Amino acid sequence: MTPDRCPFCGERRMLEEDGAWPSVWCARGVGGWMMALRPRDEQHLAQVRPALAAAVRKVLAAMAALEAPMVITDGRRTPADQQALYARGRTAPGRIVTYVDGVTVPGAHVQGRAVDCAFWVAGTVSWDARQPWAAYGACAEAVGLRWGGRWRTLVDLPHIEWPED
Ligand SMILES: [Zn+2]
Repeated sequence: MTPDRCPFCGERRMLEEDGAWPSVWCARGVGGWMMALRPRDEQHLAQVRPALAAAVRKVLAAMAALEAPMVITDGRRTPADQQALYARGRTAPGRIVTYVDGVTVPGAHVQGRAVDCAFWVAGTVSWDARQPWAAYGACAEAVGLRWGGRWRTLVDLPHIEWPED
């Protein structure tokens, strides 16, 4: 069953075959059709490596077509951002969320080759475990990305990254 409305703006949308992948298009484009991403998502994609951005567009299009639209919650980080995350559960309150310290290991986010996504449910971001994370991971892997849901030490369901080059 193919939804006929853009999950983000409500415009009627069409699905087109782009190779093996459906592309999600929305009528709110400038001078034509464009993919229905939020401006915030486009900002994230503009700051990461182009190859990653292209792959993430396919993942987001596929998830929207599965009626499980997602948004990007995090993209490129500065070394200081990464160090602040690393401090969590160590020198700062909270639980440990990363083993990447941003100093000895810069990390995929600092290198602009990772994004984190979450589901968009009723106009808000959801990290609920009942969301179809496995489908998200499968979509990411199908376009050549690595999925944090496979990490052994710290499962990171939202995280997808371009492989090390
Ligand atoms: Zn991440």
